[in-house]
Amino acid sequence: MGNQPMIVLSEESQRTSGKDAQSMNITAGKAVAESVRTTLGPKGMDKMLVDSTGNVVVTNDGVTILKEMDIEHPAANMIVEVAETQEDEVGDGTTSAVVVAGELLKQAEDLLDQDIHATTLAQGYRQAAEEAKSILENIAIEVDADDTESLRAIAATAMTGKGAENAKDHLANLVVRAVSNVAEDDGTVDTDNIKVEKIVGSAVEESELVEGVLIDKDRVHENMPYLVEDANVAVIDDALEVKETEIDAEVNVTDPDQLQEFLDQEEAQLREMVDDLVDAGVDVAFVEDGIDDMAQHYLAQEGILAARRVKSSDAEKIARSTGARTVGNVSDIEEDDLGFAGSVSQQDVGGSQQILVEDVEEAKSVSLLLRGGTEHVVDEVERAIEDSLGVVGVTLEDGQVLPGGGAPETELALELRQFADSVGGREQLAVEAFADALEVGPRTLAENAGLDPIDSLVQLRSEHDKGNSTAGLDAYTGDVIDMEAEGVVEPLRVKTQAIESATEAAVMILRIDDVIAAGDLKGGGTDQGDDEPAGGPGGAPGGMGGMGGMGGMGGAM
Ligand code: ADP
Ligand code: MG
Repeated sequence: MGNQPMIVLSEESQRTSGKDAQSMNITAGKAVAESVRTTLGPKGMDKMLVDSTGNVVVTNDGVTILKEMDIEHPAANMIVEVAETQEDEVGDGTTSAVVVAGELLKQAEDLLDQDIHATTLAQGYRQAAEEAKSILENIAIEVDADDTESLRAIAATAMTGKGAENAKDHLANLVVRAVSNVAEDDGTVDTDNIKVEKIVGSAVEESELVEGVLIDKDRVHENMPYLVEDANVAVIDDALEVKETEIDAEVNVTDPDQLQEFLDQEEAQLREMVDDLVDAGVDVAFVEDGIDDMAQHYLAQEGILAARRVKSSDAEKIARSTGARTVGNVSDIEEDDLGFAGSVSQQDVGGSQQILVEDVEEAKSVSLLLRGGTEHVVDEVERAIEDSLGVVGVTLEDGQVLPGGGAPETELALELRQFADSVGGREQLAVEAFADALEVGPRTLAENAGLDPIDSLVQLRSEHDKGNSTAGLDAYTGDVIDMEAEGVVEPLRVKTQAIESATEAAVMILRIDDVIAAGDLKGGGTDQGDDEPAGGPGGAPGGMGGMGGMGGMGGAM
């Protein structure tokens, strides 16, 4: 670079270029992966995360850890996005995806040091990822939608090592029933139709599945019925209250009659609202805003069951499942807007009164009631359940699974090394590096289980060499066993998605040779960068300092 640069950037901005930029970004990406590594697999440990307000989350879930960590480094955030994509697309495999991304960067670093160009690397990685996907498709195992035993195994695998571990079989059963319940005839599954409700108290084993939508609400008036059968259901995004005047109106009352008249007028308005509901044929009303006391009284008189201040997400679920159309203005309600439910009832659920909407007309809907000893326990069980619901849903959609325990990664590494020979050129080195990177999965499983990673890898490789493509590492015994027979199985999409997003993120980071930040690069600035002169090589160590601290946290836990 020239000694007297022309100044085109503001004084505030920081610039890091060339090898410095590359190594800063790689270090940041690796640090993110390192921070979740110890949580991978059945014997992975948990992390306790405390936010600035003192809120505590104890979790084993990769994406939750990364979201809670409040990462600011731009390259590090690209790795966090890998976890987020994985979470959105499949719900499970977030830690694995991030760990692979980190390892791809680490392997790339060695090749960059050997003067292999980043573009060559990127091309090699992309080629390897494509090949990897087709290899996985070849070794995938078909699963039928009615094969509940396999589905339960898939559900249980996703919960392994999480807080739900001890009640795994029971929960796996509930998850499969829940997902099968909401699955459409064409196999598509919208897990939004499964409402997960948490109840603190009693044991995880007491969790249950309720067919229908459960709303954590009391009916508003004690004279309302507890149960309504063959109910016409209204969902109202409005209040059953006298509308406030737009302008601050002052009402001067000069004699008692006038006051009475004024109150009568209000009552009449409320009466009219209730009459509108009665005229439309409403039996049950879910109201998103308030319901005036007087209106409650009238509703009860009419035998209408009503709940107020219903959360809009709940209102949406009721609308979808009963086929109701949400009405924005009570006076506009018509018979057409109403949905139907065979039964709406108030019940005691885990010590609190809830309203259950069952036998619905439209979309099938179920509620999973999760119980657990403490709030932290229930929260972590919920995260495990979300992963589990995701994988069972994906399996019903795709019908293809892979054995777990590092079996597919070992198989891929083996076949990709063979494939590398056919690639030739410098890309060959990148494909080989990609193969090595994938083995971080089984290696980490072994490490976290307190096993010797080299011994485990050697054993795995030799089994796969013999053609046992389902051989994986049993994290409990340390033996290499047939994972399919053991019932450790995961959807194909968990692996293909992880490889895809990890590769994309790694390639994107590798191709950057210039980082121009408008302000201070927070990744290091908060720790130590402040006294460093802005820009130039000085910025890079600062940037790494912050991330290095985070990596350290991963090692300590
Ligand atoms: P992720 O966020 O990537 O899903 P997990 O902590 O859930 O991370 O670990 C997933 C890994 O653990 C997968 O590679 C999976 O095959 C493996 N695994 C799950 N159950 C077992 C088991 N019983 N034995 C060995 N490996 C297992
Ligand atoms: Mg998992």
